[in-house]
Amino acid sequence: MKHLKLVLVLLLVMGIAGLLSFTEPLRLIRIQKAGPGLLGALMRLQIDVLQELGTCFLARADREDIRALRGYSVPVAVLDLDARRKSYLLLPSLSPPVRSNLSRRGHLLEVEAGTFLFWTETGDPGAILPPGLPQKPLPTATILPYLKPALPFQKNPSVARPANDLVAEIAGRISEDNLRGLVQALQNFQTRYVSTPNCATAAQFIFNYYQALGLDVRFQDVEYSAGAISRNVVAELPGRIYPEDVLIICGHYDSISDDMTTLAPGADDNASGTAAAMEAARILTLYPLDFTVRFVAFTAEETGLIGSRVYAAEARARNEKIIGVINLDMIAYPDELPEDLEIIVNPASEWLAAKFLDVCGAYGLVAANQVVNAAIIYSDHSPFWDWGYAALLAIEDYPVQNPYYHGITDTIDTLNFGFFRDSARAALAVLAELAQPVRFGYPIAPEQLRATPYTYSSLYNSFKNIHLSWAARPGAAGYNIYRSSISHQDYQILNSAPVTATVYLDRYLRNDSSFFYVVTTVGTDGLESNYSQQVWVWPEVAVSAQTQADRYSFFGGVQR
Ligand SMILES: [Zn+2]
Repeated sequence: MKHLKLVLVLLLVMGIAGLLSFTEPLRLIRIQKAGPGLLGALMRLQIDVLQELGTCFLARADREDIRALRGYSVPVAVLDLDARRKSYLLLPSLSPPVRSNLSRRGHLLEVEAGTFLFWTETGDPGAILPPGLPQKPLPTATILPYLKPALPFQKNPSVARPANDLVAEIAGRISEDNLRGLVQALQNFQTRYVSTPNCATAAQFIFNYYQALGLDVRFQDVEYSAGAISRNVVAELPGRIYPEDVLIICGHYDSISDDMTTLAPGADDNASGTAAAMEAARILTLYPLDFTVRFVAFTAEETGLIGSRVYAAEARARNEKIIGVINLDMIAYPDELPEDLEIIVNPASEWLAAKFLDVCGAYGLVAANQVVNAAIIYSDHSPFWDWGYAALLAIEDYPVQNPYYHGITDTIDTLNFGFFRDSARAALAVLAELAQPVRFGYPIAPEQLRATPYTYSSLYNSFKNIHLSWAARPGAAGYNIYRSSISHQDYQILNSAPVTATVYLDRYLRNDSSFFYVVTTVGTDGLESNYSQQVWVWPEVAVSAQTQADRYSFFGGVQR
């Protein structure tokens, strides 16, 4: 009996201890980006990384995780001891009065230069913010599965870049008058603030426009606050050869100002980006494309990127193959002339910015400037980054220089339509280069391109052979095989004459580099097709001594 009591007491103590450890609060932590082994350590420990910034990651972690991270010499700082049931907001540089106001009413931390984290112990921190302040709610789902190693990125300037006359023709069709008409029509709604009926009417206007072009168009419901619905507009032009592979051109159509319920014209922000996507759609319906293009007008960007967060999360849930996202947000107000366009990307999307600059150069379009900074998260490209999709933001200036920004004076008469037309042409040219206009009378590129790496290592040597295969195209005289070390550009031909087999072995390649392949079909008349889908062979990255053994499970293999 006595023993039984003891056992019961012991069980009780164990139960309480178990309960205590179970309810041990998760902390919000900041992880400094340091060293090539960091990603391996994060993956090995299955850390719930929530946000990538310029110099750090923000993550949720328990005490064990923090101890283990420190064991890997990863610099960790605890930002909040109990991250349960709280919402956090990320904010860009703040003026001193806003800063002191927010610090009085909640917790305000500068997590890296120019990025603030704001939260309150209870309630919605968003309710405290002054209207029109750019913001991004800290994601609650981990982005760990989508983190990729930062690889050296090198354009190859020696690769001759063939300009495509069809792409030049497509970009040249952007009409200044059409852009003007669309911006005027959007401004005429007076306000497109998310909670107003005018915002819903504007969405219907965009829907009708796409429908009139003959596109498949749908509304996507977005709950922008409890029980309140606004709608994204999603129009699709299916690809003729690879309908599953998608390119997106997008921008938000909602607007904001101090007087947002009655007047928020939002001509530059962001009737400009919305109109550019709409004009691009008009032109692309005249040119069949190999790949699918979607035109998306997002709602509720100004209140925390809500429309794009819903869209990107659903796309990932369906595991859609989104090749790249071109987000246009404020592309019509030059603070000085000549103005250049800022092309903003995270490290994983660097290829897309490089492609943008490459296309601008090849077709003599607007001057573009590449900025790689994962901390520029205050527009609709950012949720795509979170879900591991390549995306860029095209914007006239960052930080914003437009003096009418988020004011009742952001009107059509302040825009420069020459610059606007050039920005829209550049975005459309990049989109067309990636989606590939069909050339009638030309052969069709092969499907089902696959790449399998075989790695060989010895004490003295380490290399890989990559075995490529694809499905035969009836009537083909042969195939050309192209390789690049960066995505979707700088392809160099590998074969000296078209190969007649549907396999190719690319030999003696570096183990630590990425390789991208496409194949074309050559017809009996010598004409060559557009490129096939691209396959990507990942590098074998030496993560750290500890993770050498399982590096293959992290980085080895092929991604389509
Ligand atoms: Zn905007």
